[in-house]
This record gives sequence, structure tokens and C-alpha cells, in this order.
Amino acid sequence: MNKEFKNKEYCSKLDKAQSYSEVWEIVKTTVKESLGETRNGMMLFLDDLALNLGAYHPLGTNNIVLNRHLLEIIKATRKSKQEINAFAYSLLTHEYLHAIGHLPEDEVHQLAYKVSQECFGEKHVTTELAKKSPWILLKNIPITNISSPKSPIEVIKDFEKIDHNYII
Ligand SMILES: [Zn+2]
Repeated sequence: MNKEFKNKEYCSKLDKAQSYSEVWEIVKTTVKESLGETRNGMMLFLDDLALNLGAYHPLGTNNIVLNRHLLEIIKATRKSKQEINAFAYSLLTHEYLHAIGHLPEDEVHQLAYKVSQECFGEKHVTTELAKKSPWILLKNIPITNISSPKSPIEVIKDFEKIDHNYII
């Protein structure tokens, strides 16, 4: 597959993704494509975390915890679906790279950029988020004023198989 064609495929898949598991599938495929690395059996949890935290991977577990509250805020700002998916992709890829064994932040940052650049091309929003930071999407949003009751932690069952719709 030539690079341009591959980029188009990945961009269109990510732009159209309807669920966490679809985005996750793309995270795994693109990391494998670009770095040749994989890790199976990961579990995704959604929780309302402090808004300065996008997601985390507790070391030594198979878990990735994604900040549901932050994703809700991004959706509420009427960002495009492409941007929302790129944001979720960026957070999940970052934690996935940690889970694979890349611990230093700068290493993860560089690898996430390499994966995005190779798979989506230099111009896609995902590559921009990998180069700068996913937080640039929240630049003009006064998130310190936003509070909402905390909902219970939620597990996305069979994260790697079943669709869990999250985009309205
Ligand atoms: Zn990190």
C-alpha cells in the first residue's frame, strides 16, 4: 500500500469512528503499522477525573482510564467529530504507548508523533495534536468554571470487540 493511499484510509476511518472501540482499534492498528508493537487484553475505563488529566495507565495493569468529563466538555463545545475523535485517539495512543513499555514522556511524545505522521499524514489534525498537545483543542475554553457531579466509574466491556457509542 503506498503512503498516500494508506493515509487516506486511516484518516477516513478515524474521522468516521462512532465509538471508543473503533477509535481503539485504529490506535492499535496504527501503532502496529508504524512501530511494529502490540499489546492485547487492554481494558478501558471511563471516569470523571480532574480536568487537567486526559487519561492514565496504572503501571503494571492492563487498564487505561479515560477522563469522561473531559470528553463530555469537548463534545459540548461542538468541536467537529474529526477533532473529537482525534482528541480521543491522541489520549488513548499516549497511554497505549506507556502500556507497551515506553515510559519516558518525551519518548512517548516522539513516538506518538511518528505514528500519527506516518499513518495520517502531516496535515491531519491528529498529527497536529501529537506535535503540539491534545490540549490545544481546549485552548479557549474556561474549564475551571465547569463543574458537574461525578458519575461512577464505568468499564467498557469487551473494549476490543463491541461498539460502545459515545458520539451523539
Ligand atoms: Zn504520559
